Amino acid sequence: TRFDQLGLNEEILKNLSQAGYETPSPIQAELIPVAVTGQDCIGQARTGTGKTAAFSLPMLQQIDLRRPGAQALILAPTRELSEQVATEIRKLCPDKSLNLAVLVGGKPLRPQENQLKKGAQIVVGTPGRVIDHINRGNLKLNTLNFVILDEADRMLDIGFRPDIEKILRKCPEKRQTLLLSATLPPPVERLAKRYMQDPVMIDL
Ligand code: AMP
Repeated sequence: TRFDQLGLNEEILKNLSQAGYETPSPIQAELIPVAVTGQDCIGQARTGTGKTAAFSLPMLQQIDLRRPGAQALILAPTRELSEQVATEIRKLCPDKSLNLAVLVGGKPLRPQENQLKKGAQIVVGTPGRVIDHINRGNLKLNTLNFVILDEADRMLDIGFRPDIEKILRKCPEKRQTLLLSATLPPPVERLAKRYMQDPVMIDL
């Protein structure tokens, strides 16, 4: 499989070759063609498989860079993973008009608030800190059309379920949701059942 067979646009394909990505990894080859059609997807994948690009490319393809404000929200279990995801997205979309906000605990609120004020189209963060910014009125979810739950099993293990549910209940119903998880135990399946619409299962 080649990247140009997955339904990605010219702009994205150009960025991919500039980033040095030549061949899609298995999760990318399976997930991207389904996700670009707008369907909810559950992808079973571990770190190191290229899962970040797998969910980021279909998302980037739908982001309107001329429009400020949160269009995509990515929830991740840890500060480190959130930062890695942001770095990977930057690599895949070097366009200066793409603004990212990284909302993680253990860091001061003000710089994060400023990233949001600059009109971040993509917001990446840990559930607790994301809630914090919602409660402070810094982050509004009504303009989202894309939600990604990365490492969902780890987020639930850490105890983020109440926060995740609070966030998902505030998201517009008309949206695309992608869920990535190394394992799919019953709590992850329940979360998917409640907050996703007829998700397509991508297992390798
Ligand atoms: P991830 O599993 O998302 O953490 O990605 C693991 C690493 O592989 C990251 O450093 C990515 O930049 C890199 N990567 C992801 N997809 C590809 C690809 N198709 N070709 C080359 N490198 C990739």
